[in-house]
Amino acid sequence: MRDGAAMALQLPPGVADVLARIAATGSEAVLVGGCVRDLVRGERPTDWDVATNAPPEQVAAAFPGSSWANPFGTVTIRPADGSPPVEVTTYRIEGGYSDHRRPDQVRWGTSLEEDLGRRDFTINAMAWRPTDLATGRGTLVDPTGGAEDLAAGRLRAVGDPDARFSEDALRLVRAVRFATRLGLAMDAATEAAVRRHAGAAAGLSGERVRDELFRLLSADAPPSIAFGRLEELGLLEVLLPELTALRGVPQAKRLAGDALDHSLHAADALPAADPTLRLAGLLHDLGKATTLAGGHFIGHEREGAEMAEGLLRRLGLSREQSGRITRLIRQHMFAYGPEWSDAAVRRFVRRVGADLLDDLFALRRADNVASGVHEPPHGGSDELEARAFAAVRGDPLEARQLAVNGDVLREELGMEPGPALGALLDRLLEAVLDDPNLNRRERLLKLARAWALEASGDRAHHSDPPSPAAER
Ligand code: ATP
Ligand code: MG
Repeated sequence: MRDGAAMALQLPPGVADVLARIAATGSEAVLVGGCVRDLVRGERPTDWDVATNAPPEQVAAAFPGSSWANPFGTVTIRPADGSPPVEVTTYRIEGGYSDHRRPDQVRWGTSLEEDLGRRDFTINAMAWRPTDLATGRGTLVDPTGGAEDLAAGRLRAVGDPDARFSEDALRLVRAVRFATRLGLAMDAATEAAVRRHAGAAAGLSGERVRDELFRLLSADAPPSIAFGRLEELGLLEVLLPELTALRGVPQAKRLAGDALDHSLHAADALPAADPTLRLAGLLHDLGKATTLAGGHFIGHEREGAEMAEGLLRRLGLSREQSGRITRLIRQHMFAYGPEWSDAAVRRFVRRVGADLLDDLFALRRADNVASGVHEPPHGGSDELEARAFAAVRGDPLEARQLAVNGDVLREELGMEPGPALGALLDRLLEAVLDDPNLNRRERLLKLARAWALEASGDRAHHSDPPSPAAER
């Protein structure tokens, strides 16, 4: 397909309606960007972007209930028929990019060609201009040859690649995303410019990098391909130097490769639908870069969790996401054996946290795949998983599940609120983790009374404490 070629589409009614209503105000409205690229590739777009020469206030006025509160003049319209929201953006010409991050100013443009000219890659710089919305007829607007590049399997920057990457360094990472997701080879000049400008990615805001990395991690293609490409191009070292530090760190695994290969394979073995878990897989062995001694990586889970915390803060991840990842890294080295008592299983669950069990076992399975390890059915982590979940379903594992609480202890033992009461509850929980049968009000009170007595007696006589077993 070429610039100006006829192209018929079956548009969702909500999208056709947006185009028609803007046209009815006398302005031009076209489809643009990712959706046109998808249509040219013969795929159904997931989201629809419209560009127009009408200024944002005029667009907003044509759609009651819509609003625009962003510096880019994007009006989001939610069609009444429930089809996906349509983003309408006024043609733009961007100003300088003195910080390599964001345009210093955005100016409204007047022509579609200007707007397409400021886009990153030719495949993203195509538009569809309707000629008859009722029948879905229209033409392809493709001044930079995006359709031809798509057909040739080529990713090419719009215009001078050096200029494009110095305007916005995020395009370096986007280049890797589009190339790997769409299976395109980078055009030689574009690729050479990516390498030359890789260092500029250091100036990107953590949040913009995070969003791109998550898009890479949620792609169906294995993360090892995209992250491998980032490494080859010199971008991984700039964005995630903690990961490139694993390159060359030897591993005594059944599978060949160093600690970075292993980390990439662990990410591959986790589901695309959970990019946060994939990120945990990617980062789970960060600590191996600094702890290798005598063929072992003693304490790498602790070191690694700390390194990951710094890295994730830099990327601006939420506390929840970051906490989930660092806890997983911290806990990933558990070594189970069939000799574990039920009490040991309960302590394991308590240490890990019941909320993290699913993720931790998923990470272990991925770690095994990436190491070439096959665990035995008996005495392996699948068995621990079954026992851990049985414990979660059946046994009290937290202070709030005890058959007594602070109020009961105060009333029954006449204790004052304070650290001694907290310590007594902790001790009761320990006893119940050892033996869930103790978790009955009278048994716990009996224990608590004995310990309270012992504590006061202790101060006088230093007597031996009764053990919970002796109380049964
Ligand atoms: P996806 O299907 O992953 O959403 P997309 O092409 O829609 O891909 P977006 O990031 O949603 O990608 O951007 C929409 C369009 O805006 C792109 O197709 C491109 O034309 C333009 N664009 C987005 N970010 C940039 C950028 N940093 N520099 C230049 N153009 C950009
Ligand atoms: Mg998009």
